[in-house]
Amino acid sequence: MRYSSLVDVYEKVEGTPKRLEKIAHLARFIEEIPADELDKVVLLLQGTVFPTAEEKKIGVAAKLLSKAIALATGYKEIEDHWRTTGDLGKTAAELVKTKKQQTLFAQRITVAKVFANIKKLAELEGEGAVDVKAQYIAELLTSAEPKEAQYIVRTVLGDMRVGAGEGLMRDALVWAYYPKISYLASTCTRCNATQPKTNACVFCRGVVAQPQGKRIINITTQQELTDIADADLIITPNEHIAREVYNTFTQDIQEALDIFNDLPLVARRAKMRSVRKLLDTGLIPGKPLKLMLFQKAQSIKEAFSIVGKPAACEFKYDGFRLQIHRNGDCIKLFTRKLDDVTPQFPDVVEVIGKCVSSHDYILDAEIVGFDTSQQHFAPFQDISQRIQRKYDVHLMSKDVPVLVILFDILELNGRTLIRLPFAERRQLLSSIVKIEDAAIRLAHQLVTDKEDDAAEFYNLALGRGTEGIMVKSLTAPYQPGARVGYGVKIKPTMDTLDLVIVGAEWGEGKRVNMLSSFTVACRDVDKYLELGKVGTGFKEITKNITEGVSFAALTEQLKPLIIREKGRRVAINPAVVLELAYEEIQRSPSYASGFALRFPRLVRLRTDKNAEDCSPLSYVQKLFDEQKR
Ligand code: AMP
Repeated sequence: MRYSSLVDVYEKVEGTPKRLEKIAHLARFIEEIPADELDKVVLLLQGTVFPTAEEKKIGVAAKLLSKAIALATGYKEIEDHWRTTGDLGKTAAELVKTKKQQTLFAQRITVAKVFANIKKLAELEGEGAVDVKAQYIAELLTSAEPKEAQYIVRTVLGDMRVGAGEGLMRDALVWAYYPKISYLASTCTRCNATQPKTNACVFCRGVVAQPQGKRIINITTQQELTDIADADLIITPNEHIAREVYNTFTQDIQEALDIFNDLPLVARRAKMRSVRKLLDTGLIPGKPLKLMLFQKAQSIKEAFSIVGKPAACEFKYDGFRLQIHRNGDCIKLFTRKLDDVTPQFPDVVEVIGKCVSSHDYILDAEIVGFDTSQQHFAPFQDISQRIQRKYDVHLMSKDVPVLVILFDILELNGRTLIRLPFAERRQLLSSIVKIEDAAIRLAHQLVTDKEDDAAEFYNLALGRGTEGIMVKSLTAPYQPGARVGYGVKIKPTMDTLDLVIVGAEWGEGKRVNMLSSFTVACRDVDKYLELGKVGTGFKEITKNITEGVSFAALTEQLKPLIIREKGRRVAINPAVVLELAYEEIQRSPSYASGFALRFPRLVRLRTDKNAEDCSPLSYVQKLFDEQKR
């Protein structure tokens, strides 16, 4: 397949702000992709070449890309040009265009070639790797048409701007491969394309009418739908049932994405309509899955009203979330970002091997710093120091010992447990763990239906130096990747926001060459919306992470993520999350989120969170509403 057909879709998706139109373009394209190209295409549509589960990053900075553009086009002043366009992709397109007028012949590039070359970038390491990487990119750019060059550069930089996020891809897979549903679909009377229902045909602007199909299933309730086999249209009695059917399709795909973190795998299964079967095969120890997340409650009363009564109250330990996998003799540890941190925690691997009596499981846990002499919890920063440490890990495990707190189990001896009620999962968990007070424990728990008892437990938790409590439903399943109300957290501290850095400014005076003021954003489905700037709470320079976060250290971390530069301002690929405190949330037309923070200040760097884990706009709105009350 030619890369230009992919570019065509990028342009169409980017060219419309309407979600249904984006879905229509993606679905029509995906539907036609031959099976052997599907893996590559769905990943490239998301602007990557690696499924999330592989944890690899393309990892090429703008500087190296500039070098590659120079190699391919012969122009030297790439960075000057980039400053005027503010977009390295556009710079590449324009320079390739000028160059093209001088060369008549170039080979057409294919999806396979782009995919292969970009993939190699992540695999190259060591001396000379930089030059080889530049050559791989230059090789693509030399054959590329201007628009192709633009998207190649954007993909390598991790700055697609097409907005084909996971939610959109999920819906596109349903529209591409599942039967269309009455009330939600329509067929164009001119070009005959069946598509999501909008005012006019997305593809030819023709008049749209009732959806057409050859293999039709008629249902009166959602439950009647048991087998979609080779149907291409489902007729429902009303829009409500149509939506229910559609939701079961999207939920299956979302669940599979959350569990397997492998878009190509899910796309292949969607094409064969066998996602359900995939879900039934269950979890595989060694392959990380997205974690269940928790909502926030303001009070114990509210907590009970969300999760129901009786509920399990647990201490909320202030440490690092860890997913622990064992498959035979192999134990692996993953963070909530699904990064493999096994090498950093040999002590945890040892205690798990010793104290958990099975060879096949997936556990959910929090690890906390633990001062063995004083018998109390150590600050959160100590552990983040260990996560980032790649050498001397054995020394660190002595200096910063950790305590493993287990609170859930998702798989045991080949059996997937996520659909079991929490009370049963906790029982299974306790049946395989031998507790050692200074090394491994179960989350301290109280099951109660009385608010007074829960309040007393909350005070006990705070007295023991924990952050607060979690209140969990005893009957709920484990839902990977979702912030559903199956558990809530209650903590006394002022609400903070986890916001992602999307921009910054080069400093002046003593901060020259350092990024100083950071523009931060919250998340709204597939977009990041700015919420303000923060420059308070940072140190100038620090020797190690326990002293806090410095401008110097953060600058080093952000430099490879710079995607545009204009004057002193830089745009940054969303990846680094800051936890911020503030005096107040205000309405503001100056920022895309519609809100601004008064007096924001840094609390800490959330190294454990991905950009997608930052606070959603709905949460900012909720805090704003609560503040008014
Ligand atoms: P937050 O990071 O503020 O959204 O709070 C949720 C986090 O609390 C989880 O992701 C865990 O890392 C942590 N945590 C601490 N203790 C528990 C517990 N008993 N159950 C679940 N999560 C816990």
